[in-house]
Amino acid sequence: METKIRKIDKNEIDEDIIQEAGKILKEGGLVAFPTETVYGLGAHALKEEAALKTYAAKGRPSDNPLIVHIADYEDLQKIAVNIPPETDALAAHFWPGPLTLIFEKSAVVPYGTTGGLDTVAVRMPENAAARGLIRAAGGFVSAPSANTSGRPSPTTAEHVAEDLDGKIDMILDGGPVEIGLESTILDMTVQPPMILRPGAITGEMFEKVIGEVSMDETLLGDESEKAPKAPGMKYRHYAPKAKLIIVEGDLREEILAVRQLAYAAKREGRKIGIIATDETLPFYKYGVVKNIGTRENEKTIARNLYKVLREFDDEDVEVIYSESFAVQGMGKAIMNRLEKAAGHLRISAAAVAKQQKYRRVTFVSGSDSARAPMAAEILRHYELKQEYVIDSRGLVVLFPEPANQKAEAIMKSAQMTLQDHVSRQFDEENLQDDALILTIDENQKNKILSEYGQTENVYTLNEFVGDDTQIPEPYGKPLTAYGECFEVLSALVRMLAEKLDSLVEEEQ
Ligand code: AMP
Ligand code: MG
Repeated sequence: METKIRKIDKNEIDEDIIQEAGKILKEGGLVAFPTETVYGLGAHALKEEAALKTYAAKGRPSDNPLIVHIADYEDLQKIAVNIPPETDALAAHFWPGPLTLIFEKSAVVPYGTTGGLDTVAVRMPENAAARGLIRAAGGFVSAPSANTSGRPSPTTAEHVAEDLDGKIDMILDGGPVEIGLESTILDMTVQPPMILRPGAITGEMFEKVIGEVSMDETLLGDESEKAPKAPGMKYRHYAPKAKLIIVEGDLREEILAVRQLAYAAKREGRKIGIIATDETLPFYKYGVVKNIGTRENEKTIARNLYKVLREFDDEDVEVIYSESFAVQGMGKAIMNRLEKAAGHLRISAAAVAKQQKYRRVTFVSGSDSARAPMAAEILRHYELKQEYVIDSRGLVVLFPEPANQKAEAIMKSAQMTLQDHVSRQFDEENLQDDALILTIDENQKNKILSEYGQTENVYTLNEFVGDDTQIPEPYGKPLTAYGECFEVLSALVRMLAEKLDSLVEEEQ
């Protein structure tokens, strides 16, 4: 079958296209169309055969019921019975919008559409093209997400075409969707109403309108023994081709764990993916890193989630590690989808961290302008067995300055550079449990010990590697003094690299 693709602008709707698409639906065909949540695969909701076609095109199990989309509130009464009184208030607040309500079905709704259930799921989408299409089709359009069953839901017309080209009659291309996650499903047949699938409309938002609602307990957390109440929630869903693993912990731990996992993969020649955010992107150097949005605005994350999962299918990565997100507001829906995409695979960031005594190496000199940054840069050039955040600090840094020019000249002659270095003041932040602090001389070490009372993990570089070759102070001396200093530092850092690797072996 040839799938026609028609562009549609929701601000300036072409009525002819809507009528053409509506006719296809009336005649029992399939049309994918944009809604504010994800793209839907539309079919006539009151025709048994149309539902069967939908299941076939998606490869969806036929016990997984479809949501019936309406455009006018009065139409609800034609397909649902025993509609509880709170429905008016919910509709007034959230319809049209990303909310699906479940009621007892009326006789006109075929069991094909409801997956054999006596209840029907109903939503009124906001997207104007969607509502135009529903009216043109006679008022009742069943529309599951327009993807192949099990794949990430489509948030663009291109995603729909990837999965369904040749299997459906038409795709209405209205550009990228706004929300990017499927609607919230609220079951109105129980008291209090129960959230069966989290989405953009949250429990707190319902409570302001109708008081208490409950939440299907199988939605978050581990794969439960119990079956979820929305049949569709029991299938592995939204899944990328690669194994997806969620890394859990506080954000700082997560970043370090993901870095460690990416570094280990790189050493072993494995290609991995990372799902990161605006805020964490700069921390990742290895692997295929994709930005899912900003932690400042969870809506950006919701909007990009499926797109990013789909993009990884073209990257040929074997594992994708994802940071996790706060489970509040829309974060609940984000984590629900992410956990399903991961098939509930997760690792604890703290457990990854435990495998490593030190995760940071911070060199400390007086002004952080020559010896400490040189040592840090030399260490960065080693292929160590584990990843470290390697840095330098000064004990007295009045304002940030670039590296000493003679130090830079010497580094350049060794094919290294300090051009991005800016001197920074040492402070308490640097004394974390997983940080190895290496001072250039004994005075600097004693100063840290007396000022911060910290005795663990603070050593002179000489002391830590067990070698007493003095590191000369080149400041104010000619370039050759910097060269000599570089030689001594290089030798000590080589010993340091060996020592760090030997610590890793002891732990393994
Ligand atoms: P989708 O249209 O792909 O977003 O999937 C529709 C979701 O709504 C699936 O998870 C279904 O299981 C759920 N659903 C549809 N009708 C009902 C119903 N009558 N009772 C419970 N869940 C339903
Ligand atoms: Mg779906």
